[in-house]
Amino acid sequence: MNVLGYTFKDKSLLQKALLHSSARQGENNEVLEFLGDALLGFVVAEELFKMHPDWDEGMLSRARAYLVKEESLGNVAKKLGLGKYLRVGKEGERDGYRENISILADAFEAVLAAIYLDGGIRPVRAIIRRLLLKDIDEDEIYDDRSRLQEIVQSKFKEVPKYRVVSEKGPPHRRMFKVVVEISGKVVGEGEGRSKKLASQRAAGVAMKWLKEHEGV
Ligand code: MN
Repeated sequence: MNVLGYTFKDKSLLQKALLHSSARQGENNEVLEFLGDALLGFVVAEELFKMHPDWDEGMLSRARAYLVKEESLGNVAKKLGLGKYLRVGKEGERDGYRENISILADAFEAVLAAIYLDGGIRPVRAIIRRLLLKDIDEDEIYDDRSRLQEIVQSKFKEVPKYRVVSEKGPPHRRMFKVVVEISGKVVGEGEGRSKKLASQRAAGVAMKWLKEHEGV
């Protein structure tokens, strides 16, 4: 049986990974999910670390959180059609567990663990690269600018204004400081190795400010 482009030597591992707790008493994929969760976090961290030597710890953590969140995994699993292989009980069939993003995300993690136990870390790494890391949309990860813009437009009928207030350091290690203004007032500032990143951080700070001071 071939799932996620991997052929299992020990098919019982895959069967266990696809066994939802509603299907049978006492046996299910939860322990494999536990292991898969840790593997996924490790491999994603390692890959991001190698792919983006210029990112700091904050960016790496955020990118990892985005990539391993339930919604991301569940959607990948759904696209792959993992749901049709899942074994669920009567209630599961009735309540659409095969389409449930959270259940699919867990099954995806369990399958990764099963692949690891069957074939080691290499196939797991290859699958994670191919399915999760291929095209990371940085703007989707760092979407504070868009979120702030939505809030400010609806509440103040204007758009936030960003201004670079300082640039420091040699060209290969430049640091930018950006402030964001609403109605001419500075409501947040952020630093980063690019203007884009600095402004995303400033937007994040501005959202906290708005929450505290304006209740939005
Ligand atoms: Mn999980």
